[in-house]
Amino acid sequence: FPVDRIRNFCIIAHIDHGKSTLADRLLEMTGAIAKTEKNKQVLDKLQVERERGITVKAQTASLFYNHEGQQYLLNLIDTPGHVDFSYEVSRSISACQGVLLIVDANQGIQAQTVANFYLAFEAQLTIIPVINKIDLKNADPERVESQIEKVFDIPREECIRISAKLGTNVDKVLQAVVNRIPPPQASTEDPFKALVFDSNFDHYRGVVANIAVFGGRVKKGDKIVSAHLGKAYEVNELGLLRPDEHPTQKLFAGQVGYIIAGMKDVKEAQIGDTLYLQEQPVEALPGFKPAKAMVFAGMYPMDQSEYTGLRSAIERLTLNDSSVTVQRDSSLALGAGWRLGFLGLLHMEVFNQRLEQEYNASVIVTAPTVPYKAVLSSAKLIKNRRAVQKNMVYIDDQRVMMKYLFPLNEIVVDFYDLLKSLSSGYASFDYENAGYQAADLIKMDILLNGRPVEELTTVVHRERAYSTGKAMCERLKDSIPRQMFEIAIQAAIGSKVISKYTTDYGGDITRKMKLLKKQAEGKKKMRRIGNVEVPKDAFISVLKRK
Ligand code: GDP
Ligand code: MG
Repeated sequence: FPVDRIRNFCIIAHIDHGKSTLADRLLEMTGAIAKTEKNKQVLDKLQVERERGITVKAQTASLFYNHEGQQYLLNLIDTPGHVDFSYEVSRSISACQGVLLIVDANQGIQAQTVANFYLAFEAQLTIIPVINKIDLKNADPERVESQIEKVFDIPREECIRISAKLGTNVDKVLQAVVNRIPPPQASTEDPFKALVFDSNFDHYRGVVANIAVFGGRVKKGDKIVSAHLGKAYEVNELGLLRPDEHPTQKLFAGQVGYIIAGMKDVKEAQIGDTLYLQEQPVEALPGFKPAKAMVFAGMYPMDQSEYTGLRSAIERLTLNDSSVTVQRDSSLALGAGWRLGFLGLLHMEVFNQRLEQEYNASVIVTAPTVPYKAVLSSAKLIKNRRAVQKNMVYIDDQRVMMKYLFPLNEIVVDFYDLLKSLSSGYASFDYENAGYQAADLIKMDILLNGRPVEELTTVVHRERAYSTGKAMCERLKDSIPRQMFEIAIQAAIGSKVISKYTTDYGGDITRKMKLLKKQAEGKKKMRRIGNVEVPKDAFISVLKRK
């Protein structure tokens, strides 16, 4: 396929502004999928994505598009919008020459719109602003165009107004992709060179790597080398993603596709690695900055007999999501396990859910902690979170962008949810690391009938220990089902108890029967601490503020 008729682009936006819906329409209009009412975020294939209605994993689709009598190959990458997954966006951007920057016509520019814009801008990609949801009653595309002009310095004439839902003007988006985004700078005459920008683990075929070919060509049977480990492999299968795997004979410079080359070990297909032909070594591409874990939590098997199974599940899932860091760890109460690093709490929850749904693993997660860094942010509700205001910019007469320094600990669990509900969904938020700062912190334990609950041990600011301890005890009291005896719930600093609650016991016999039945059903989901049964999901809910 001639390189000058290839376009590589990704769709970026704030969460819910319509990236995946636009991807559906682009797939339909180019015949990659049949047009039916049922196409709803077809690229969101994971169960967790369907249940939560969010994109977690970037997805690639190659489309054939006829424009003025010529056929073009468009490689589209749909990306997640939530701040926790911006690492997926930066990787996707490195395989592209342009982006569609989607902005909701009703909500206007939001925090991740700005964050994602800068990712594309810094990578010097062509940016096509697309104003979506113009069908909504309160849509105000004029105002959004002014915001785009003011905040991003992009002339309003460049904006395309669409409704991804109804398909309005989506053809104009395809034309703009062809006319405005340059083809990749790659030549089939050069030696083969490809960037691994994503990889998946398949139980039967081993590693499936998503690659962007920066030069030359590769075919089945070729001997390739991964620059990172220097190991050689034979190519078993390759092809395009349309969006399902579509095997081809060769992949050429400028194309985006997948490759399977007998990589069996999860560490063999590093994201950001370069592949080349054994007989034609090339210099490795720059790769990516490794993702920086911000939130750490312990993960343990429900039962030590499940250790080996859980280890292989974690290994496989971290190959599919290399932004997770893993270290072995062990605890007196929980046995052997791991300490995992995540990009945020949603990322941690999604990882946990994927372990359970895709790998059938059952895990205990300890209280997330942060490596005590400060962060930049924007909002209200900020006063009691130890924040310091940095600056403030008016985007227009209705919207303001504020920057604050926050202790990461204050925002990691529930800040995002709280900000959303306080502002009725209008405020949005993004953060970046601003380094370490000294603070007066102490370790606090939560005890059940005198036994410390490891999952709930936290580090808190001294001034907040009392109120946090009290709130955690109250929430724990509410989330433990009644049992046949009294339970003492305490918060303690060292040996000093700072808060104490007692639950009433179960009561009459029918209640006891019901309780036992319910507990038997939920057995797998319970964890025993001393003589007390605690539902697994209690741990996260105790950490969230009301
Ligand atoms: P993403 O998070 O950016 O991928 O957003 P989605 O594509 O998942 O869309 C979020 C929500 O907005 C879904 O409920 C869509 O049905 C809805 N949506 C997307 N595009 C439009 C549109 O053009 N008009 C309207 N009214 N709703 C839309
Ligand atoms: Mg999406």
